[in-house]
Amino acid sequence: MRPNSIKSLDNILYLEDVSLLDIAKKYPTPFYIYSKEMILAAIDSYLTNIRKKDLVCYSVKANSNLAILKIMAEKGMGFDVVSGGELFKVLKIGADPQKIIYSGVGKTKPELEYAVDKDIKSINIESLFELELLNQIGNEKNKVINTGIRINPDIDAKSHPYIETGKADCKFGLSVDDAKRIADASHDGISISGISAHIGSQITDDELFGTLFNDLKALSEFFISKGHPINHIDVGGGLAIDYDFQESFSPELMTKKVIDMAGDIPIFFEPGRSLIGQAGSLVTEVLGVKINGTNRFLIVDAGMNDLIRPALYQANHKIEAISASSESSEKHYVVGPVCETADSFGEFSIAAQEHDHLVIYSVGAYGYSMASNYNSRLRAAEYLIDGSKISEIRKAESYEDLIKLDQY
Ligand SMILES: *Cc1c(COP(=O)(O)O)cnc(C)c1O
Repeated sequence: MRPNSIKSLDNILYLEDVSLLDIAKKYPTPFYIYSKEMILAAIDSYLTNIRKKDLVCYSVKANSNLAILKIMAEKGMGFDVVSGGELFKVLKIGADPQKIIYSGVGKTKPELEYAVDKDIKSINIESLFELELLNQIGNEKNKVINTGIRINPDIDAKSHPYIETGKADCKFGLSVDDAKRIADASHDGISISGISAHIGSQITDDELFGTLFNDLKALSEFFISKGHPINHIDVGGGLAIDYDFQESFSPELMTKKVIDMAGDIPIFFEPGRSLIGQAGSLVTEVLGVKINGTNRFLIVDAGMNDLIRPALYQANHKIEAISASSESSEKHYVVGPVCETADSFGEFSIAAQEHDHLVIYSVGAYGYSMASNYNSRLRAAEYLIDGSKISEIRKAESYEDLIKLDQY
């Protein structure tokens, strides 16, 4: 099983109308490659059931390539940013500030001032110290800043511990008790107009969004009763994708579930992974085959600096050979060149040998955006496929890029 956009024709894999074998031979590996058709389909699955007043804010940290942000903006999506850098990027592609929300557990004063100067839709407050700082900025600038309160609803997202963000002892959000205390206080530099939460990532149980909505709704009624002009409820992101391609976690159903409960209040969603995850693949060349002890290794030219999810979250990304060149399919560990034992993509039955190419699936989200220069490796190029058209949406780095900021 593989992503919808990938088909096998005569034992060669195609992404939309493009032969992956042709491009793997033509362009230096490793590289990321995305299907525009899949991105558009994922966007549509979020837009199908929402009303005019609701807003889907793409979570930029999943993948912040400007070409991808542009596709999102052209389809009317808003943006959820978590840093000044992400805000800079979405403004660069002409995003409407009134469709931008800013979340994050540790925003600096310069970052907050930047967001305030750009008049974005909502800065989501995650701590009491941030509330005081924003109020001070509002007073200094003689402005009433649009904010939301991000709470920690103490809901277990039941995914990996590193990507759960909504349990009581996580660093994210404000406890409901602290939020209620804020509702009673008066701050003339800010206006609180939204209640939000993001309970984690790779959530496979969409009932949780209903539970979450009820908690947020109750709190928003409390804020309204205290005179705050609540004008949206934000249920965050986190809907899963299936890295094994067995199940589908449907944005249509999840958004419908929440909107059916919503009544008049506008709802914001903040999906990242479920918009871009399945649309991206990583193409890599086998440098050689090696047997050490009882293990067989396929050593490839992509490493954990290109894709850190397996090392960081024990994520299991399906891997296939782009052309099935040999019949045997013994089990191999597919490993990268980085000097870390954790630099492994897992064990697969793959028939491949030196110079064959492999494709690593479901890497559109938290793939390139988490890439680094570790081991002074160059970050890879990114390509976007639209039918038979190939666009280079980011160049591969050069050795000069590696040193251009060093002073010596
Ligand atoms: C990361 C993040 C998201 C998106 O999470 P996904 O699992 O990619 O959908 C949404 N909201 C906030 C505040 C986040 O930090």
